[in-house]
Amino acid sequence: MRGLEVLAGNPQAKHRLSAGRGLSHAYILAGPAGSGKHTLAGLLARALVCSGKGETPCGACPDCRKAAAGIHPDVITVGEEGKEISVSMVRALRSDAYIRPNEAPRKVYLLPNAHTMNQSAQNALLKLLEEGPPYAAFLLLAENAGAILPTVRSRCELLTLAPVTEAEARAVLTARFPDRPAQEIADAARRCEGLIGRGITLLEGSGGRTREVQEAAGQLVKLLLDGPERVALEFCVGLEKWERDDLCALLEEGVEVLRSGMGRYRDTRRALALVGRLEEIRRSLDFHVGAGHVAGWLCAGSF
Ligand SMILES: [Zn+2]
Repeated sequence: MRGLEVLAGNPQAKHRLSAGRGLSHAYILAGPAGSGKHTLAGLLARALVCSGKGETPCGACPDCRKAAAGIHPDVITVGEEGKEISVSMVRALRSDAYIRPNEAPRKVYLLPNAHTMNQSAQNALLKLLEEGPPYAAFLLLAENAGAILPTVRSRCELLTLAPVTEAEARAVLTARFPDRPAQEIADAARRCEGLIGRGITLLEGSGGRTREVQEAAGQLVKLLLDGPERVALEFCVGLEKWERDDLCALLEEGVEVLRSGMGRYRDTRRALALVGRLEEIRRSLDFHVGAGHVAGWLCAGSF
């Protein structure tokens, strides 16, 4: 299979797919949200419908191009993100599967949240996996392969996707967001914990409120470390008006600011102590500690 470089990391899954023994008619793509299941499913769908010569997907035939644009009539997505795939949806899929493909050599069914199928839905699918028409192919995406019945699993090839390294995440995010500052990319690469989808969300979301939180966090850290005390107190008192969620984001961001700046601070021990304190206050917010307390607590012990 060609084009596997679109998927970062995951050498094992890539090795299995590049082994050159043709494509299976059913795959389970298992891995946490953001681990590349959709990226790999897109590539597999193109490879399955490709009508070009040689290794697939050729990337140039009409089938590849339509599939890449998301408009191929023989690549069918079943179910919506966040919604359960019901048995009636699987039954509808089954009747559809017996209608020959429109254009491509194969018909590909993509189930983005296969882990939401209950037992009856999975059993209905199992029949199709066992006795369905030879042109039908299935891509089942699941956060955890354990949610798929062993009988269904045994009919599919399992590809497990794992988080990538921080360096790999940084490379992918840099290529995807070429205009963003290197520091922002590096922060997202560290915070996404190897889940590139999460890194993309972090970078796409860092506008609006988040930018405000980022600026406030930078200011808070600077004031708590270097003062002047009066300004720090005023700043903390101003936080009493903040919403709980924003305060949580502020404290988390403050920890990030400190961690990424560690080594640049005059007094490392003080900076480390502040990390501990911000984390402690952040945890306390999970127990309904009020914003007023947080403001006082932030200043207490800083000077
Ligand atoms: Zn092609």
